[in-house]
Amino acid sequence: MAPAVLPSKQQPQPIVVSGPSGSGKSTLLKRLFDAYPNQFGFSVSHTTRFPRAGEEDGIAYNFVSKPDFQKLVAENSFIEHAQFGSNLYGTSIQAVKNVAEQGRTCILDIEMEGVKQVKKTDLNARFVFLQPPSVEVLEKRLRGRGTDKEEAIKERLEQADKEIEYSKTPGVHDQIIVNDDLEKAWEEFREFCVPREKGETDA
Ligand code: ADP
Ligand code: 5GP
Repeated sequence: MAPAVLPSKQQPQPIVVSGPSGSGKSTLLKRLFDAYPNQFGFSVSHTTRFPRAGEEDGIAYNFVSKPDFQKLVAENSFIEHAQFGSNLYGTSIQAVKNVAEQGRTCILDIEMEGVKQVKKTDLNARFVFLQPPSVEVLEKRLRGRGTDKEEAIKERLEQADKEIEYSKTPGVHDQIIVNDDLEKAWEEFREFCVPREKGETDA
């Protein structure tokens, strides 16, 4: 088991969001952070991929070179790490600690291999999977986003099949949300992240 990353069991349970690239993770997370600015904190991963337009170093990701990433691996700095397409991604112990120290619920946005690794740690997370309505719609959304080259889109679609297959394993995710209509998906996502007390209604 990986080393304990949270100071105590009293910390809010972290939430692991996964789903194929283009399934809407960033879109729903942005809504969540806008709606609840003090309640959640993003686990800022390390990656070797190049920043996209608008992505700030230290906010979207910690952008690092491959040798620097490998050094962090050798130093056991990561809770989990994986290769996705031709790039490396990892959640550092420090990233999760930073959020825990603020007393906020830590949100991890990670792919399938990372999910498997997190399940072997003592992070005690809840897992939610965002599923696209179909692979065809996913492809349209990935292209519509306009951030990835053809090669990267192909890699992401291949990976999507694997992610969707893995999501069917019983018990892997606490909830699966199909992101067809965005408003409906947001309601389900919000309810997962901020469960209402019994009998509570919108103010
Ligand atoms: P991810 O973070 O999972 O890779 P994004 O949040 O970047 O995915 O979403 C991929 C693209 O799909 C974005 O351009 C986003 O605006 C769009 N999108 C997300 N959800 C929906 C939806 N329900 N209907 C239509 N487009 C969507
Ligand atoms: P993107 O390049 O689109 O930002 O992310 C590609 C994939 O890498 C997404 O599925 C995202 O969830 C995943 N990812 C981002 N950060 C991490 C991480 O720290 N660890 C793992 N395993 N996957 C990550």
